[in-house]
Amino acid sequence: MTYRIDADVAREIANHARSRYPDEACGLIAGRHQRISFAVALRNVAQEPQKEFAIEPAEQLRALKSIDAEGLRWIGVYHSHPFSAPIPSAEDLDSAHDYGLLQLIVSLRGGKPAFKLWQLHEFGADPLDLHFDGERVPDVSDPRLTQQQRLAMLIAGALAVLLVLVIAFSLLPPAPDLSVIR
Ligand SMILES: [Zn+2]
Repeated sequence: MTYRIDADVAREIANHARSRYPDEACGLIAGRHQRISFAVALRNVAQEPQKEFAIEPAEQLRALKSIDAEGLRWIGVYHSHPFSAPIPSAEDLDSAHDYGLLQLIVSLRGGKPAFKLWQLHEFGADPLDLHFDGERVPDVSDPRLTQQQRLAMLIAGALAVLLVLVIAFSLLPPAPDLSVIR
């Protein structure tokens, strides 16, 4: 099954993961059908937050209410792996209770966030296809300019130069009246 995630949401999750580094960050993901369009960041209350994550039930309930208020469906949980690949750890597999939910893991290993979506089950985990909506790759480690942004900057630059020229010409003294000399 193929899922899509809004690039903005992926960026939000990656930024949360980076802000909690070297701890694991966690939260909930929600959306409609197979599209992840909403994320709620939660606190990691695990004993060893650099190795695992745990969500406080009351906080989770509040997050579920905000998902409900958006008219969205709870799709699953996200968490980060600050040092390892985006593959469910033994702890992740052990602590999974609700197999109807998906696990989105973002790895910060190597600097550039890497996302992987998983369906956990009794016997392990299966990777799911995940596509990014809005841009090809959610490149949060290196926010490069898009083609349109670059074009907009070129146009703005050209207009600025033109404006300076117009002002410069308007400030020139009037041309001398040569007819007086004759
Ligand atoms: Zn994990």
